[in-house]
Amino acid sequence: MDLSTYIRDIPNFPKSGVVFKDITPLLKDPKALTLATESLLDFITDAKVDKVVGVDSRGFIFAPLLAQKIGAGFVPVRKSGKLPFDTLSESYDLEYGAETLHIHSDAIEKGDKVLVHDDVLATGGTAKAVCQLVERLGGEVVQCNFLIQLTFLNGADKLKGYPIRSLLQY
Ligand code: 5GP
Repeated sequence: MDLSTYIRDIPNFPKSGVVFKDITPLLKDPKALTLATESLLDFITDAKVDKVVGVDSRGFIFAPLLAQKIGAGFVPVRKSGKLPFDTLSESYDLEYGAETLHIHSDAIEKGDKVLVHDDVLATGGTAKAVCQLVERLGGEVVQCNFLIQLTFLNGADKLKGYPIRSLLQY
């Protein structure tokens, strides 16, 4: 089964000139959903992962599935104004403007081994900010994994030092 056939290109979304990788055809197919989940699980070689951190909002689809399978907890990283308790935040630049991500201040224990998951690695700004939040709370990022890596945007360069895995590369 070729998972790439379940990824749909949407031109000019969310803005003109961008070709958006739509993962919803993969999500709605039971066999593709299972294969994607199992393939992401196969990436996890660390004996112990304490928390899987998922990124708002498409990172929330697979991160809890992975966490449940490996006996880890799930932690959401969210955009501003969404988390109800005390948060730490990191801001980073986008092509136009900036984004801020938050994590609850009690989400990670010192020494926790953390897997970071998101649907897509593009420029890497998002994942880098998430890794910084985890580290500020004393966690250790053992892997960042993604369904899709847009290699032409060089996100891996921003994540030097972190083990990266992705199911599909473009
Ligand atoms: P980055 O910070 O690496 O440039 O962007 C990654 C973030 O933007 C991820 O949270 C991801 O969900 C979202 N993203 C960027 N491009 C795409 C895309 O083509 N498809 C999807 N599904 N998400 C994208």
